[in-house]
Amino acid sequence: KLSKRLETVVSYIKPNMKIADIGSDHAYLPCFAVKNGIASYAIAGEVVEGPYQSALNQVEAAQLTEKISVRKGNGLEVLRNEDQIDCIVIAGMGGSLITEILEAQKQKLASVSRLILQPNIAAEKVRKWLYEEKWQLVDEQLIEEEGKFYEILVAEPGNPTLPYIDLSKEFLLGPFLLKQRNDHFKQKWNAELKIWEKVLQELNKAEENQATEAKKQALLRKIEMVREELK
Ligand code: SAM
Repeated sequence: KLSKRLETVVSYIKPNMKIADIGSDHAYLPCFAVKNGIASYAIAGEVVEGPYQSALNQVEAAQLTEKISVRKGNGLEVLRNEDQIDCIVIAGMGGSLITEILEAQKQKLASVSRLILQPNIAAEKVRKWLYEEKWQLVDEQLIEEEGKFYEILVAEPGNPTLPYIDLSKEFLLGPFLLKQRNDHFKQKWNAELKIWEKVLQELNKAEENQATEAKKQALLRKIEMVREELK
């Protein structure tokens, strides 16, 4: 059985897509997606030896070696043109690493009609990258599991401006998540607000100079913006 987080990620794979799960670790996601007839084929990419071995073992134990190719390599490097991958999944990493992986080999995205990205932190960076690279955010979901919040972002080639009204606000909060404004959303951002307010207190105690002043102003703007949305 998959975690709720990975199950939600899988729910965005369209029937019969050929998927690549980059940073697959134990390859739970591709095994689940192929076994349940959701994906027709999968590549599990891993850069670290331990997780790579664990992916190999998992795929073999599930007798899925014909439909899942486990490959060792950095990011999108494991993909070849002839794979004709429809959908790339990158889950369980920080937003910076996710955008670095995508940015490093953009040419590998030519055949891809859907990206499913689940940044543990810094989803803002991912939205910004998608926007600048002309990927249209088509859906988002915020889930809670074991006291942690996870954002899932889905993008397709298209019109990147479509979901946005106010870029700086919605890069941070997510245009779809902001519109839904559900309980998880309020809990997540209330928790973030508390952290930011603590940081601000610390900055107020720190010695005054231009750098801390700039940081304080930026943080204050963010706090006010988010507070406004939680009213
Ligand atoms: N995707 C799985 C999930 O969401 O449960 C595993 C997440 S795990 C925390 C992150 C995995 O990404 C690790 O196994 C790590 O080795 C792998 N990873 C990190 N950077 C990578 C890169 N540049 N290319 C491929 N894999 C990478």
